[in-house]
Amino acid sequence: MSKKTGNKKVCSFQAETKELLNLMINSLYTHREIFLRELISNSSDALDKVYFQSLTDHELLGDDHELKIEIDVNKDNKTLTISDNGIGMTYDEVTENIGTIAKSGTKAFVDKLKETDEVDLIGKFGVGFYSSFMAANKVEIITRSAKAEKGVRWESEGDGSYTIEEIETDNRGTKIILYLKEEAMDSTNPEEDFSNQYTIQNLIKKHSNYISYPIHMDFYREETPRDKEGKTIEGAESETIIDNKVLNSITPIWKKNKKDITNDDYFQFYKHHFHDWNEFADVIHLNLEGTIEFSALLFIPAKAPSDLYDRDFSKGIQLYSNSVFIMNDCKDLLPDHLRFVRGLVDSPDFSLNISREILQHDTQLKVIGKNLEKKILDTLKKLLKNSREKYEEIWPEFGKSLKGGIYMEYKNKEKLEDLILFNTSKDELKMTTLNEYVERMPEGQKEIYYAAAKDIDTIKRMPQLEIFKEKNIEVLYFIDKIDEFLTQNLDKYKDFKLQSVTREDFNLDDVLKQDEKGKKDENEKVDEDKNNDYKDLLDAIKDLLEGKVKEVKISKRLKSSPVCFVNSNSGTSFNMEQLLKGVNQVPAQASKILEINPDHAIFSVIEKVYKEKNNNKELKNISEILYNQALLIEGFELENPLEFSNNLCELMTKAYN
Ligand code: ADP
Repeated sequence: MSKKTGNKKVCSFQAETKELLNLMINSLYTHREIFLRELISNSSDALDKVYFQSLTDHELLGDDHELKIEIDVNKDNKTLTISDNGIGMTYDEVTENIGTIAKSGTKAFVDKLKETDEVDLIGKFGVGFYSSFMAANKVEIITRSAKAEKGVRWESEGDGSYTIEEIETDNRGTKIILYLKEEAMDSTNPEEDFSNQYTIQNLIKKHSNYISYPIHMDFYREETPRDKEGKTIEGAESETIIDNKVLNSITPIWKKNKKDITNDDYFQFYKHHFHDWNEFADVIHLNLEGTIEFSALLFIPAKAPSDLYDRDFSKGIQLYSNSVFIMNDCKDLLPDHLRFVRGLVDSPDFSLNISREILQHDTQLKVIGKNLEKKILDTLKKLLKNSREKYEEIWPEFGKSLKGGIYMEYKNKEKLEDLILFNTSKDELKMTTLNEYVERMPEGQKEIYYAAAKDIDTIKRMPQLEIFKEKNIEVLYFIDKIDEFLTQNLDKYKDFKLQSVTREDFNLDDVLKQDEKGKKDENEKVDEDKNNDYKDLLDAIKDLLEGKVKEVKISKRLKSSPVCFVNSNSGTSFNMEQLLKGVNQVPAQASKILEINPDHAIFSVIEKVYKEKNNNKELKNISEILYNQALLIEGFELENPLEFSNNLCELMTKAYN
């Protein structure tokens, strides 16, 4: 029973909350029914919380230990009441959670709702409680926190204000009383008549069947007394019989036989349980018996939560023991690179008062974890093989996690290398696996080529790619920041080295030979000879550049551009250098080798200047300009823009005077 204590306060809703309520009340008419699943979902969360806390606080539940949700429909009072004996709320919590919602989600939700009128957004944005105003013109909350002596009564008509007061109440938990709107009691439209017990029963089956606490409702029926033979007794007054029914299926979904569960059942469960309103990409349901006994239900989401890559992202799998919830976010079950998987594991062998510290050393948990990891990777492999389109859709969401797994630990390389995708020069709209790349390689190609830059357009402009374009050799596009760092562990795939097109050496000769039969030796010789022939000139340029470059070489890869930089075979690359600078790290500088295109007209100019005039000043100018051009092409800042500009002007003046 509750009793007022006479300290009622009238408060105003925040502007955003007002706007939200206004929308709920005046704009949303379709799918009104979802308010019920939202309120039940809140109750279920509150029950989880009290249960969880009772594991360490043994007095918390007292005599009231049968955790449940109750629904009461009262046609006479036009009310629908949803009660739970969950954690409840203190006065301050009601003010904070219900009264002055300051959650960032609210504004985003209101904006989105204005655009789309999509009612399913309600759950997504965590503003579920307010949906009760879709069906009610007044809502009353009576709640008492498991830890407080006094209760709280809150009431609002969804206009600009609410009242809040402290009350005396015996019951722990929360009771939400909806004073139904006329249009929410429309008996001509049973689906929208929330004063009809059967409507409520159907809705629970439809949206809340897999809530893990029983949802009770008293069903009333009038019955005329009967005699022993079953005949009605004449003149006897009919009596009201109350049947208390549990409306939901109490066996948790993960304990059921897979064949009895539809995809929609999984989805309904997933939505509520993990608060993700996007349909998952795949589900893994395991029931293992034997030396290790456990059930697991794991989902591969279609969308990554926005904080997936934040340091304090609460990754993890829920633990249950014999259907009883024991822990959220068990971090030790799955490796970090599978952080995007949502799910739960239920094993009779988990102890109810298991602590996170114990879990870290639990060998059984490790065995289960290994099992799950393998299942998840197999499922991803299957998805990649059989539902390529779907895999490519979820790849942008989770790809970085998988790549991260390879980057963090060499031992993950084999497990993950066949699951990663890259953009490719083969087809800009599609992605490729490493295996597909290797299968397409022409005979004689010994390396897997990649080009790393911030986006595809930048890569396409890279002069280092010219030979690859000309010879039609496929190049992977490394456009994720992590991609090139991956090669520290993913140095090879199936014996084929991953080779950057901007590194000094690459081994295309056999492919070129294949391409231009017989010419190979000649080509090679020419290249060698050219570097020898021009040794003095190249050394002179290097010297004139005063230590800015490690070497100056005749290029094999340039076809139309005059110059480019390449890196030594090991150490930081240009792309890495720029990425590290971007995150304010001081990177080791990538070594610069200046390559000059011997077939470019500028080359003969250089030769001429060098041979005929032997004019150091002019050669220095030209060298500086070429060096600066290579810097610009690579996206680096010029070291001395003024000098570059002056040099250029000097040359132009000479050319046109
Ligand atoms: P969400 O549930 O997504 O956080 P809601 O608007 O539905 O958003 O609820 C706001 C908050 O109010 C909840 O996070 C919870 O702290 C509190 N709350 C709502 N219903 C209950 C309940 N039945 N028992 C205890 N706390 C509740």
